Amino acid sequence: MILGKYSFGIGDRFGRQGAAQLAAVIKAKGEGLDITPVWNKSKREHTIIGTRPADVRREADEAVKACGWDGAYFVDADHIGLSNVDEFIEASDFFTLDVADFIGRPADRADVEAFAGRYGKYAGSLAVDGIDGELEITQERIMAIGGKFLSGAKEAGRIYRHIERAKGAGNFVTEVSMDETDEAQTPVEMLFILAAIAEEGIPARTVAPKFTGRFNKGVDYVGEVSRFSREFEEDLAVVAFAVKEFGLPEDLKLSVHSGSDKFSIYGPIGQALRKFDAGLHLKTAGTTWLEELIGLAMAGGDGPAIARQVYSGAFSRMEELCGPYATVINIDRGKLPAPGAVEKWDGERFAAALRHDRSCKDYNPSFRQLLHVGYKVAAEMGGAYIEALDRHAGIIGENVTANIYDRHIRPVFGGR
Ligand SMILES: [Zn+2]
Repeated sequence: MILGKYSFGIGDRFGRQGAAQLAAVIKAKGEGLDITPVWNKSKREHTIIGTRPADVRREADEAVKACGWDGAYFVDADHIGLSNVDEFIEASDFFTLDVADFIGRPADRADVEAFAGRYGKYAGSLAVDGIDGELEITQERIMAIGGKFLSGAKEAGRIYRHIERAKGAGNFVTEVSMDETDEAQTPVEMLFILAAIAEEGIPARTVAPKFTGRFNKGVDYVGEVSRFSREFEEDLAVVAFAVKEFGLPEDLKLSVHSGSDKFSIYGPIGQALRKFDAGLHLKTAGTTWLEELIGLAMAGGDGPAIARQVYSGAFSRMEELCGPYATVINIDRGKLPAPGAVEKWDGERFAAALRHDRSCKDYNPSFRQLLHVGYKVAAEMGGAYIEALDRHAGIIGENVTANIYDRHIRPVFGGR
């Protein structure tokens, strides 16, 4: 169960683009970049679309077979907890333990004091390779971090042991995620979170903190890029330090739940990876569905009408569709075109509004975000939508592959 230095989250809403996504990873391999594909789908997506974890497994296995991929690949039970992990156990071999809801839940006072006692030796000025200056740490700070994060670490331990009992140790990859919270975790917090993860005996391969800034779905990063870069580099340094200090797996690496398309930080992330010779898991997933709409819009025939129909459906059900994503989208309603106006657009115009090309004057981030969360409308079209995907599979597949390779893999892993 070797995840490898670089891994990339794929997987798609409707399970039709497995081969097109894998083609991007194969193209990277041809360029000398080894990346492990990981098909991921969260409980939220499964619920909205009406799919099951076994469907993702089938998609992955079929794509691997069709493309003749002989490298490792994984199926990720994304953002699971004790309440829903069971339905993912059989189909998955990668588990993202989501403990965000447990952050800040009061931990047992004696546990916190004992934790702070064990790590008191790090209080003072701590030098960490790769960090300019030193981390200033106080005993009170360690207490506060224990108080905030020990409940989450313990919950991660419970979920991990539950999966281990079912699948056997060493038969799956474990990620611990804390990204779906309000506050970013600092590198110092990360250090002691990793200590707590190690104490729980979790052989974490990836850890997903919440980074500074906003990671809205399907659009670019919002925040101070230089601040992100500094924090990201410090996190890389802390992970390497924690691996040695706490005996965590050698190949432990950061996982960035990008929400897709964080183009302005891809360059700094890539530079940091090379500077630290560090690995990365980039979980991006969702925008393959938008490439399906772009492909349909460009396909001619009935394609553009289907794309427009999805938009008008999403427009009329905005509240309902945006609800589950409220904290990770930021739609300016004044910028949304009326469905009547979109009816007059040709496929090119629709694709230009949707495609994430910041240099294009027609690109509309609000339009894009609404469609990003609008996949339920397409899901409800049922067979008609899926059949359209199959009819126009060629042009859709080209868009899917190019999007993953050109806009994501190359800038992050390839340094271009
Ligand atoms: Zn996430």
